[in-house]
Amino acid sequence: NQGLGSWPARRARMTPDRVALTCRGRDHTYRELRERTYRLASALGVGRGDRVAYLGPNHPALVETFFAAGLRGAVFVPLNTRLTTPELRFILEDADASVLVLGEGRDGEGLPGRHIGAAEYEDLLASGSPDAIDEPVGQDDVCLIMYTSGTTGRPKGAMLTHANLIWNTVNLLVDVPLAHDEVTLISAPLFHIAALAQTLIPTVLKGGRAVLEPSFDVERTFDLIEAERVTVMFGVPSMFSFLAQSPRWAKADLSSLRHLLCGGAPVPLPLIRTYQERGLTFLQGYGMTETAPGALFLGAEHSVDKAGTAGVPCFFSDVRLVTPEGVDAAPGEPGEVYVQGPNVMPGYWRRPEESAKVLSADGWFRSGDVGVADEDGYVRISDRLNDVIISGGENIYPAEVENALYSHPAVAECAVIGVADDRWGEVGKALVVLRPGATAEAEEVLKHLDGRLARFKIPKYLQFVPELPKNAAGKLLKSPLRKLYGS
Ligand code: AMP
Ligand code: MG
Repeated sequence: NQGLGSWPARRARMTPDRVALTCRGRDHTYRELRERTYRLASALGVGRGDRVAYLGPNHPALVETFFAAGLRGAVFVPLNTRLTTPELRFILEDADASVLVLGEGRDGEGLPGRHIGAAEYEDLLASGSPDAIDEPVGQDDVCLIMYTSGTTGRPKGAMLTHANLIWNTVNLLVDVPLAHDEVTLISAPLFHIAALAQTLIPTVLKGGRAVLEPSFDVERTFDLIEAERVTVMFGVPSMFSFLAQSPRWAKADLSSLRHLLCGGAPVPLPLIRTYQERGLTFLQGYGMTETAPGALFLGAEHSVDKAGTAGVPCFFSDVRLVTPEGVDAAPGEPGEVYVQGPNVMPGYWRRPEESAKVLSADGWFRSGDVGVADEDGYVRISDRLNDVIISGGENIYPAEVENALYSHPAVAECAVIGVADDRWGEVGKALVVLRPGATAEAEEVLKHLDGRLARFKIPKYLQFVPELPKNAAGKLLKSPLRKLYGS
C-alpha cells in the first residue's frame, strides 16, 4: 500500500510510543492509531473505490476513518457539519457513499445509506482484526473527495489522489521545516482541506502530535497553547483576529509557537502587524480544495517585506497569471491564477463537463481568482472572477443562496453580494425585488432560509430594492450592485 492508509503502520514501525493524537486530554500513540485503523478497516465492510463518508467534528474517529478507508483503497468523503440535512443528503447521494460514519452528537436522521453511529463505533472496532491488510493501493488512486459548491449552486466533489496529498506535503515541508516533535493544534475543521492537508497529514508524516479540538474557541485555544506547548497552528484570518482581540492576548504565554499557518482568505495587513509586534510571523498560503490545497506560499524570510502577497508558487507547483486575452500577464497586470503541478486534482467526481471547464489538457487548473505579480514574482490575490463570498473561511456561493431565496413566494428577483465585515472578512447581503402586490418583512424572508441552507450561508442583511441592474441580454450585473449596495 503506497497510499496514505499505510501511514499509521509506517509511523508505528518507526515511533510506536510517540503520541499521535491528543483529544480531550486523552493521548493516542502511533501504535494505537495503527491498531485501531486496521481494526476499523477490517470491520468497515468496504472495498476499493467505495466512498466512505464521515460526519462529525474533529475527533480521533475522523482520523481513523480517513486512514482506514485508505487502507482499503476506499475514498474518504468528509462532510461539513454546518450543512443542513437536505444539503448533506445531496452530497451523500452524489458521492453514492456506501457507508456514513457518524461522530458524537450526530444521529444521521434523513440521511441515506448505511450508518455507523458513534455508539456502535467502539464495538465495531473491537469486532475487527488488528492483522495487516495489504491492499495494493497506488499513489494515483483517489484518496479523498471533498465537496465545494460551484457557481451553479450545486456542490461538486473535488477528487484528490494520494499523490496529490503527498506532493502537497512535500511542498509544505520545503517551506515549513516541521520537526518530529511538533505539537499541532487542529481546531479548524478537518472536513476542509487546509486543516487536513496542511496540519494533520504533515504532522503524522513527521511523527508529531496533533491536538484535536471539536471547534475553535478563543479561551480553549489560549489554554491549549499554554498547557500543551503548541508549536504549530493553522487558522483562517478571522480565527487569528479573534485571538488578537481577546483580553488574554497581552498576557498569554505564546513562547512555544513556532509556525503559524494562515490562509483560506485574504490576510489583512493590520493583523499581520499585530502578530509581528508579538514576534509571531504568519506563514501565508494561497490555495484551494482542487489543488490539495497549496499553490502559493509566503515563507518567513519575506513575510515582512512581501506582506500582503501570498508569495511565490510552491516548489513543485507552477502558477501562471492569464489575462482575458489568454496571454501571461506582465508584472503589475492582473490575470486569472492558473495552477499546474502534482498537487492538482484529476477532476470533479462524475462531472466531466465541469472538470473540463477548469482543467486544460496539459493540466492547468483555472482557479477563478485574480492575482497580480510584482517584479519579483510575488503574487497578490486581488479579486475573484466568480462571485464567491468568503465568510470566516467558509465559502458562500451566491447562486445557491439565490436559489433558496427564490423558493419564497413573495420573491420575484434576487441577488446576493458580499459586503465587508470586521469579524468574518465578508458576509452576505441579499437584494430582493418583491412580486407586484406582495409584501414581506426582511426577517421573515431570511427565516425562510432556516433549515434549507447552512447558517453561515444565510445573508446577514436583506434589503428590498425596486429593481436589479441587468445588461442588454438580461443578465444580472453584480459589480454595479456591489457599488450601489455593497456597504
Ligand atoms: P476552497 O474552494 O474552499 O478551497 O477555497 C479556495 C478559495 O479561497 C480560493 O479560490 C481563494 O478565493 C480563497 N483564498 C484562499 N487562500 C487565500 C489567500 N491567501 N488570499 C486570498 N484568497 C484566498
Ligand atoms: Mg473554490
